[in-house]
Order: sequence, then structure tokens, then C-alpha cells
Amino acid sequence: MRIVRTAILFTTIICIALFSEKETGNLLIAPFAASSTQDWSQADSPVTVASPKNVQYKVPVFHSYADLPDSRIGSRYQLERSLLGNREISPTAKVVALTFDDGPHPEVTTEILNILDRYNAKATFFMVGERVQYYPKTVRDVFARGHEIGNHTWSHSNLTELKEGEVEEEITYTNEAVYRIIGKKPAVFRPPYGSLNDLIRQQIKMKIVLWSADTFDYKSKDADLILEEVSNKVHDKAIILMHDIYPSTADGLESVLQYLQEQGYTFVTVSELFALEQK
Ligand code: ZN
Repeated sequence: MRIVRTAILFTTIICIALFSEKETGNLLIAPFAASSTQDWSQADSPVTVASPKNVQYKVPVFHSYADLPDSRIGSRYQLERSLLGNREISPTAKVVALTFDDGPHPEVTTEILNILDRYNAKATFFMVGERVQYYPKTVRDVFARGHEIGNHTWSHSNLTELKEGEVEEEITYTNEAVYRIIGKKPAVFRPPYGSLNDLIRQQIKMKIVLWSADTFDYKSKDADLILEEVSNKVHDKAIILMHDIYPSTADGLESVLQYLQEQGYTFVTVSELFALEQK
């Protein structure tokens, strides 16, 4: 009897450890040394994790759920996503691609997703690999709700300042982190600070996406100024730059969507935008 009780207790502990969906980060943070050189001062969810230069990064430590074999994770979220179906966008439609960088952020990204849903707006989230591994639930939510996930490097480094080989690491590890959570690698890449040179362009095999309208939300942190910037700069096929790590961006988004909808814009992902440009 005692053996049975012990076995049940042991199994319960294992199950809790394997299937806990909490995003506190505790499970993940434990194996890491506080060795990041990344400046998180602009982010409002500071997480100290290893940079790609550190050995523990070579063996990314994921949330236990995401550590399940790829086939089990991928197929589940691919299936959820496929239920959304492919959208048909008229080649003559006036379109705008909203993009959100530097997340995922468990609260701000979620708030943004809720607002986008109300306008049936699809957007693109250029995610930082370091944060992807800490917030797998948010990553899955973005994907399952029909948005595109882009690569924004692992540690938000300025690529032009990296050593040989590090650019590739920044990109590959981030693609791998996203793949292990949603079963699909990002197809688009945005360099932090828009910083590029010819050598880096040659190294990057993904579609590079910059922007045509900066909202300066990261500078102003003022919800009302986002609409002002958007209304001054928006044009057909505009790529609008915002960040899903500032509560002020989420606060200002509703009026931006309202305005753009009134102007007759359809909200598309960057890959949808490129597909339209090829028509
Ligand atoms: Zn960025």
C-alpha cells in the first residue's frame, strides 16, 4: 500500500513538472547564470538570460512543455492555426502591415492581440529569441490567432558589431526557438535598429523586412502620439513599426486601428503584403 502511495505521489510530481504551463520563468531561469550583456532597460519585463556567446545558449533550455518532441508540439499548433484558413486578399485592396518588435511580452503582447482581434487585424511580431524561450505561451497565442512571427535576432544585438559567425547564431537559434514552440520557422527577419551592411545582407538567407512608417512609440511612450505619427505617415502598402513591450503602445493601438479602418485599410502580415506585391 505504501509503495502504491509513493508511486502515485511520484507520478503526480512528474506530471506537474512536465505539464505546468506557468510562464513565471522560474523553470527556465534556474540553469542560467546572470551573464547577459543585453541592455533590457528599455523593456518592461527584464529577464536576465544568457547571450548566444555563452555555452549554455548552445543547449537552449526551454519550458518543459516545449521540450516535448517537435512532432507533438508542432502538429498541435499547426492544426490550431490551419483551422483559421488562408485569407483571400483582393490585389486592389488598400493594405497596411502592422509590425510589433522586441516581444513577446506576456501582458502587453496579449493586450495587443485582444485589440487586433476586435478589428480582425492580422499583424507581424518580430520576436527576440531570448524572450521567445521565456514566454512560449504568448508565442503560441500569437501564432494560433493568425499572426505572423518574424525573427528579430536572439539578443537584440546590432548585427554590424558582431564577430564572424555570431550573426548566424543570432538568427538560427531564434528560428529554432520559434520552431520548437509552434512547429514552424519564421520566414521574415528584421535586424535590430534596422542596422545592416552588405556582408550581413549576404549572410541572411531570410526575407529582410524594414519599415516605412516609424511610430516612435519606443521614444515617446505616449499612446496619443502613435496615431499622430501613423496618420502623418501611412500610405498604401505601408509597413508600420511599433513595439509590443510598452503598455503605452497597447493603449494607443485601438485609435490607430479605428483610424486606419475608417481610411479603408485592410490589415495584413508582411508575408501577405509581399505576396500581394508579386501579383
Ligand atoms: Zn528591436
